[in-house]
Amino acid sequence: MPLTVNIRHLENRNLELCGELPLAELALDLRDELIRATEPLHYDLEIELLDDAVLIQGLLRLTLECQCVRCLKDFEFELELDPWTLHLPFEPLEGEETTTIKNDCVDLTPLVREDILLGFPQHPLCKPDCGGLKQAKIGKARKPVGQDESKPSAWAELNKLKL
Ligand SMILES: [Zn+2]
Repeated sequence: MPLTVNIRHLENRNLELCGELPLAELALDLRDELIRATEPLHYDLEIELLDDAVLIQGLLRLTLECQCVRCLKDFEFELELDPWTLHLPFEPLEGEETTTIKNDCVDLTPLVREDILLGFPQHPLCKPDCGGLKQAKIGKARKPVGQDESKPSAWAELNKLKL
């Protein structure tokens, strides 16, 4: 079921929406291979009708399966937007995108998708001070050592042999 609200239902009282939005509905465009979602998005929202807008307040939560960019370990990341607030004016200002309210109904899904994507970790880390792969450290330390002056002449000798 898509996450839609009928404004007419708000005329007399606020609406509370609590449930789960399936990933198929959320349809996240996951370009980053380090981040995957397997569980539905959880939402707990209160929707209020104002004079000239709809006000949505509550929380969004999505569990992500991430891979640490440093040590490549898999870990779970709880993406939580709390409080999540959305103010949807009936008449958008000139130049702004057209209102998302159609036939008294608001589809919150694209708005949820947009903000959830913004909340994604840019560089997923299993812990803030992850030391990364030990091998990577050793590799870095060795690099400068190999650059001694005997190398160019050694290569020159090899070239002579080939000729
Ligand atoms: Zn890590």
